[in-house]
Amino acid sequence: MRWAVPDGVRQPRGRGGGQKAAYHSGFVHGSGNVTMSTLFSRIIAREIPADIVYEDADCLAFRDINPQAPVHVLLIPKLEIARLADAAPEHEALLGRLMLAAGRVARQLGVGDAFRVVVNSGAGAGQTVFHLHLHILAGRPLQWPPG
Ligand code: AMP
Repeated sequence: MRWAVPDGVRQPRGRGGGQKAAYHSGFVHGSGNVTMSTLFSRIIAREIPADIVYEDADCLAFRDINPQAPVHVLLIPKLEIARLADAAPEHEALLGRLMLAAGRVARQLGVGDAFRVVVNSGAGAGQTVFHLHLHILAGRPLQWPPG
């Protein structure tokens, strides 16, 4: 089944008007497969706990459960986009707001002068949760090239 939404995109709960119910059970991945909503949607909905450090109308940031640096925060759009590769031109403004929010979160956490933003897009790149997220890493020397 394929809904009339862009690949990899699912409206968050509480939005989407009359189509809302249809979006509750899954969303369309870039591969064309319907994927169950991820645990990040459940964090947005406050159905599972997270150490939330930032929220605005479009984004949510919370500490990674398995931190790879003293500061390791995940910044996600509330709109479900499975992978960066699934982002479409209509997401341009949202992606810009995510980048600006990344800087805001880093400054808020006291690491605004030295932080790294990582996006793993696709399983082959290490993505394990298929809801677009920015890793914000800081608080230790960060090597280059990354692993
Ligand atoms: P990625 O491998 O790029 O998809 O990143 C997924 C990240 O989500 C990993 O760094 C995990 O440690 C993190 N993660 C998984 N479950 C949770 C959770 N319940 N709360 C916070 N972070 C999580």
